[in-house]
Amino acid sequence: MSAPERLEVTLPRDPSGFVRRQCPACLRIFKTRPSRFDSRSVHRRLVMLFPFENPHEGYEPVPTWTCFYCGHRAEADEWLVRDHVAYLEELARGLANHVRYEQLAHISRTLSQNPRPTFVAVAPEPLPEGMPLEEEDLRALHLVCCDEEVKALWDWDGPFYCPRCGAHHAGPTGRQVLQLEFIQE
Ligand SMILES: [Zn+2]
Ligand SMILES: [Zn+2]
Repeated sequence: MSAPERLEVTLPRDPSGFVRRQCPACLRIFKTRPSRFDSRSVHRRLVMLFPFENPHEGYEPVPTWTCFYCGHRAEADEWLVRDHVAYLEELARGLANHVRYEQLAHISRTLSQNPRPTFVAVAPEPLPEGMPLEEEDLRALHLVCCDEEVKALWDWDGPFYCPRCGAHHAGPTGRQVLQLEFIQE
């Protein structure tokens, strides 16, 4: 089996359509809607694990997101959860094995005139199937700042931040504070 020419990796969504994120600082879990930068984030992470021939493509800019709980700010590719990263690591290992196999197989093919080949290339394991399914969990909240929904831990009562714009809000049970600046001409 050879490595596929084209590989599609998507972050799994739960039945309500949310993608799990994990803060790289406090490690707490929340969910947001899929981002158009998700594929770029996945690609950036994969490039770090497995050097493609076109590594520069992995470094296209991604936005900075804010942790719902602690307010930590980090680039979008740092919010992958452990399951996402484990899959990407397995995928990178699989891709590396396929490339190595192709190289060895090529050598043994081109050395076919050699009466005593010194090795036989062993076909690698198939690439991993895909990310694990995402289950329905956490509590949905509406963020007035970006008119968007996030999902957060049920027992989180403290103030929180909007992952997209970083706005600071009072606790989910309280009133969300929308900071508006009125500029007088
Ligand atoms: Zn955090
Ligand atoms: Zn916002």
